[in-house]
Amino acid sequence: AAMNTAGIGQWTAAPLVPGAQPAGEAIAVTNPADRREVVGHWQAADATTVERALANAVAAHAGWDATPAGARAALLEHAADLLEARMPQFMAMCVKEAGKTLADGVAEVREAVDFLRYYALQAREHFAPITLPGPTGESNQLQLAGRGVFACISPWNFPLAIFLGQIAAALAAGNTVIAKPAEQTNLIGFAAVQLLHEAGIPQDVLQFVPGDGATVGAALTRDARVAGVCFTGSTETARLINRALASREAGPIATLIAETGGQNAMIADSSSLPEQVVKDAMGSAFTSAGQRCSAARILLVQDDIADKVITMLAGAMAELKVGDPALLSTDVGPVIDADACQVLTAHAQRMDGEARLIARTPLPPETEHGTFFPPTAWELPSIDLLREEKFGPALHVVRWKADELDAVVDAINATGYGLTLGIHSRIDATIDRIVARAKVGNIYVNRNQIGAVVGVQPFGGQGLSGTGPKAGGPHYLPRFATEKTVT
Ligand code: ADP
Repeated sequence: AAMNTAGIGQWTAAPLVPGAQPAGEAIAVTNPADRREVVGHWQAADATTVERALANAVAAHAGWDATPAGARAALLEHAADLLEARMPQFMAMCVKEAGKTLADGVAEVREAVDFLRYYALQAREHFAPITLPGPTGESNQLQLAGRGVFACISPWNFPLAIFLGQIAAALAAGNTVIAKPAEQTNLIGFAAVQLLHEAGIPQDVLQFVPGDGATVGAALTRDARVAGVCFTGSTETARLINRALASREAGPIATLIAETGGQNAMIADSSSLPEQVVKDAMGSAFTSAGQRCSAARILLVQDDIADKVITMLAGAMAELKVGDPALLSTDVGPVIDADACQVLTAHAQRMDGEARLIARTPLPPETEHGTFFPPTAWELPSIDLLREEKFGPALHVVRWKADELDAVVDAINATGYGLTLGIHSRIDATIDRIVARAKVGNIYVNRNQIGAVVGVQPFGGQGLSGTGPKAGGPHYLPRFATEKTVT
């Protein structure tokens, strides 16, 4: 079926804040696969609009919190139905604004639908009052309630799934929400918020304030009226937000739920199957052009199979198709913008000097007007050569010897990140040993190391990778709520 591209060029985004004046100049959004194509325009929220949004959100909180959790859940479920019915439009936006492949676009919409349904279900469960024993014969109940105003600040790499997931959890738990999408994906965010309004979420309960992180994002996080921030993005920005919340001199001690970066590895021992190692390493490293929090950046291969794995990897990378993500035949699309390209290019220059090139998939001529980076793999003498996370299709292979298994896991732990880890081995004792030693949130054994299946595999990390609890897991929703014991 052809992609539904109706509306491209006319897509728009502007603040959705009742009572605010119309926003300023329109900024063009271009297609990452071909920067000559304008896909829409957006307008940022100014300081007055942000102030208005905060005042509206405070005023709307009591009414929304008093709405029964089941009624809030029903609205989110209605939104899930609407979104499912409009998959083609949202998929097209994921391709044209975020540079996602068609397969990624489908997965993205599905994940967003799953989040809406899962948090609706969770709201019904958690918000049912819990009756506790009353030793003296008194009644004793635990109830949940919303905390107040939540700021949801999200990234461009899952512009629909993470964006809606954060909002759905905050709304389900009885908070009013001010949503700030990433600068790169305002059009998708705007369409998603409009859809929630259409599903029945009141306009002042969920507001949309596009704009720069340093201005709009910072204005939200320093404001004493914000009771909680749900953030996904870089570790560096999570620290800035933490600092902003900590230096407020009034208002509640705010909750921060942050999901941040990773420096993810996959370990393969000599009992593993090289074909499967290569398939899963490439699936993790290059899907979504490597722009997933879960992506494996480091492949640690035991020395006796390393030559074979490296040869197969080079062969398979020569077959990868880089190009326009709107074509079904494309494996790897563009990276998000020119800045991302620049960071990756600088990294590649350093690696070309310090490591051995294994393969670099050539960019075909039709990519010249887009922000593309060629999938590349290097062999490194040590993982110590890798510093901070590089978000793109870059894979680093390091060999290890039989007696170095614990040292390998320790070296991964020493990065300080703790998001995903892949294990390829047919020896149970080895798998168990790595699982016990690794300080990471999500472990994938003899399978693709990729993302999460909502409600089946809660996703999130530890250390520099985030605060927890895991998105899509049973402990996530309660973090958005406050508890009342009534005795
Ligand atoms: P990335 O490196 O993936 O672009 P960022 O952490 O820069 O990640 O961005 C994630 C989100 O955080 C975006 O919506 C961005 O606008 C927002 N953001 C960036 N800086 C700040 C800040 N100082 N305060 C609040 N939000 C911010």
